[in-house]
Amino acid sequence: MTKYDHLTELFGLANVHVTHYQLVGPNRLNLFIESTVAAGVCPTCLQISLAVHEYAEPQLLRDLPIWNRRCWLRYCPRRFECATCGKTFVERVAWREPGLDYTTRYEQFIYEQVRRQSVAQVARDERLSEDMVHVKKIRFSARLDGLAGILINHAPHLLPSLFHTQLSHSQWIFGNCSRLS
Ligand SMILES: [Zn+2]
Repeated sequence: MTKYDHLTELFGLANVHVTHYQLVGPNRLNLFIESTVAAGVCPTCLQISLAVHEYAEPQLLRDLPIWNRRCWLRYCPRRFECATCGKTFVERVAWREPGLDYTTRYEQFIYEQVRRQSVAQVARDERLSEDMVHVKKIRFSARLDGLAGILINHAPHLLPSLFHTQLSHSQWIFGNCSRLS
């Protein structure tokens, strides 16, 4: 049992441990996190590496609000060294797309907010520009479109569950489902 096990559990991001936190003013929370996955997969030769070469500079990633505070994750991606091909590579994590300064679940959160409220309102609530709200909405839509495409081709019986969570894409899915009949 370590100091922030409960906070890690409440935080709820898989394969991540909270090492400490920082309250910034009355409205913001920074969570310091580490990946708990011991190994990385070399993108060149697809071999598993356990050898951490170095830690990259810390990055701040926007995440879901916690306790009515806007939340950022402070995270240092690890660079692994591959014993097979000798190259180094930065770890990939399931909860964040490389190069983006927010988590995938935050992208989904914005997408769901925009389905219920105007872009301007979400931008005000989240202190984002309206452009950034649009970008997150579009990116998450594209992610769902990709998922729908995969389901249509490989597991069409799962499409109804996507319908359930993705009503605004029903027209797109109907259009593509017609191919199945
Ligand atoms: Zn390799």
